[in-house]
Amino acid sequence: MEALRAEASPERAAINEYPLLDAKRVLRIYKKLNISTIAELRDSLESGELAQRMGDRAARYIREALTQRTQFLLYEADRMAAAVETFLLDRCRVTRAEAAGEFRRRVEVVSELSFVVETADFDSVCRRLPEFGGGTTPVAVADDEASFLLPSGILLRLCRAVPADWGSALIKATGSQRHVRKLRSTASYPEEIAVYQAAGLPFIPPELREGRDEIKLAAAGKLPRLIAESDIRGELHAHSTASDGRNTIGQMAAAARQRGYQYIGITDHSQSLKLAGGLSEEALWEQIREIDQWNERLDGIRVLKSAEVDILADGSLDYPDELLKELDYTVCSIHSRFGLGKTEQTERVLRAMDNRYFTILGHATGRLLLKRPGYELDIDRIVRHARDSGCFFEINSSPDRLDLSAENARSAAQAGVRIAIDTDAHSIRDFDLVRYGIDQARRAGLSRELVLNAMTGAELGNLLALRRK
Ligand SMILES: [Zn+2]
Ligand SMILES: [Zn+2]
Repeated sequence: MEALRAEASPERAAINEYPLLDAKRVLRIYKKLNISTIAELRDSLESGELAQRMGDRAARYIREALTQRTQFLLYEADRMAAAVETFLLDRCRVTRAEAAGEFRRRVEVVSELSFVVETADFDSVCRRLPEFGGGTTPVAVADDEASFLLPSGILLRLCRAVPADWGSALIKATGSQRHVRKLRSTASYPEEIAVYQAAGLPFIPPELREGRDEIKLAAAGKLPRLIAESDIRGELHAHSTASDGRNTIGQMAAAARQRGYQYIGITDHSQSLKLAGGLSEEALWEQIREIDQWNERLDGIRVLKSAEVDILADGSLDYPDELLKELDYTVCSIHSRFGLGKTEQTERVLRAMDNRYFTILGHATGRLLLKRPGYELDIDRIVRHARDSGCFFEINSSPDRLDLSAENARSAAQAGVRIAIDTDAHSIRDFDLVRYGIDQARRAGLSRELVLNAMTGAELGNLLALRRK
């Protein structure tokens, strides 16, 4: 501990907050310029001292690393990773390339891409990569490892492995560091599963490898069987042209049926949300009758009557009870007064949950990844209240929300509260987003039993009826 403490320095920790900065290189610059903080580094860049004393190349590197965007949402990273993989296989002629790192663990915001590659000539791979995307910059290149800055600003790490060692190399590159450290032995094996077996464990899915309790659970044979996309039987949060969606109820229902779903809930906005075309009471009554007609006409899918009901500032719901009563269930969300204090905001939600027609809490914290933090809420209190009053949560699968977070979903699941994996679809194309919600559900350790829309239509109907008694 003492030895580590002596080695650690706050200067170094600050450098690590910028994933594109190479700590060794920056510490060399610190020494030469006799500075010790990121702020001083910026000053020396602005004053031109850095360029004068370290050269234009160094200055350009620091400027890029300090200013370029370094964090990306998973759907952006998916696109970039696919392009990198194609380039590695087709242009760099690697025999095998497999994505690893936080990207493979499906962390909701990623700052680097990491690939394990098999190749007879790593040198030539590193010489070709700068052609990627019209200009990729090498950051550090060694015999079996290299990193590059892609034009988008994301860092790409490559690690070379031979077939006999592929499994262990992939585990190390996937991380997390805490998981790998707790695993202790990563002896050489061609497949990941063999590495785990040698440690007396079953395969641990990448989404669980955060070094929390997954190794202990695996050793005890208690790893959850994680939810998969094929377990999803319906969609419970979808907008139609009646509010701000782009497809009609009929089109949404047909697309859901084509995915093999048994049910789709139509959750257009409620009357207070005028900006998003919220439905007046009369319009919702009319939609209820329209859905009855659809259900008479459609085979193989059931359209559920619902609404995304605003939770008003005082905790009341945006429609009267006699109208809410006609719906199969509700998704209740906060779309206003984000700035309330933590206690007030929390009590607003608790009061809303006391209404027997409150079913699912929509995007619980309101966070928008890389844009705004969620509103202040006491999530633990809300989880307890949901459990006691029979309400549910959703994981909103929209890639810039992913709300509940994996951490909050884990708390809800531990309290036994069921969670819907919703896409909040505003068009039929949005149904595909469900996989991002699945990613986070898996990171939260959710099994099928805890997922509301993994239930059959009949099971769900019974559960929803129970809530209203
Ligand atoms: Zn909403
Ligand atoms: Zn919505």
